[in-house]
Amino acid sequence: MAFTVEQALNWLTKSNEKIQENKDYLSELDQAIGDGDHGINMARGFDEVVKKLDGNDYKQVADVWKDAAMTLMSKVGGASGPLFGTAFLKMSMAAKGGEAVSYDAFIKALEDGGAGIKQRGKATEGEKTMVDVWSPVVKQLKEAKDFDAGLIRDSSKSAMEATKDIIATKGRAAYLKERSKGHLDPGSVSSYYIFQALSDCIEG
Ligand code: ADP
Ligand code: MG
Ligand code: MG
Repeated sequence: MAFTVEQALNWLTKSNEKIQENKDYLSELDQAIGDGDHGINMARGFDEVVKKLDGNDYKQVADVWKDAAMTLMSKVGGASGPLFGTAFLKMSMAAKGGEAVSYDAFIKALEDGGAGIKQRGKATEGEKTMVDVWSPVVKQLKEAKDFDAGLIRDSSKSAMEATKDIIATKGRAAYLKERSKGHLDPGSVSSYYIFQALSDCIEG
C-alpha cells in the first residue's frame, strides 16, 4: 500500500477535527504545567492549515506537507507551531518526487519529522515533550512491513499515556520540576490526536 495525496489531505482534515473537538482539553492540560494556550495554538494552526489546503489541486504528498508546515510555522504562536511545522517540513523534504509515498518512504519521512522536532527543540526522549510520542511511534512503525492502523493507534496511545510519569526537563513544564509529574504532556496529547487521525485515514 502507498500513502496518497488524498490520504495526506484527509490526515490533516481529520487532525484538525480532533484538535477542534479537544481544544479546551488541550488547554486545560497546558494550564496544569504550562501557560494554558496549547489548545488555542493548535486549533488556530490546524484551522489555518485546512483553509490553506482547501481547493488546491495537489500532485504530490510532499506539497501537501510543505503547505501544512509553512502554515503551522507562520500561524502558531508558541513552541508547538515551529515544532510541528518542522516535522511536516522534514517529512515533505523526505517525500519529495512521488505522487504517492511507499511504506518505506513514509516511515523515512516520519523518522525525519521526529528528528526535526528533536533538533529544533534541542530535546531528546524522556524530557516530557512531544518527542516522547513521535520517537516510540516511529520506532514501532519501523518494525512493521506495511501501514497498520491498529499499531499506529495503540503505539501513540501508550506513548502519550506514559508522558504522565515523566519529570519535564524541556519546555515550560520544566520550571515545575517534580511537580510536572502526574500530568500528561499537552504536546504529546496533540501528537496522539494527529496519529489517531493518521490511523483513521489509513483505515478508511
Ligand atoms: P508554549 O509552551 O510556547 O505555550 P504550546 O503550549 O503550544 O507552546 O506547546 C507546548 C508543547 O510543546 C509541550 O507540551 C511540549 O510537548 C512541546 N515542547 C515544548 N518545548 C519543547 C522542546 N524544547 N522540544 C520539544 N517539544 C517541546
Ligand atoms: Mg502553552
Ligand atoms: Mg504559550
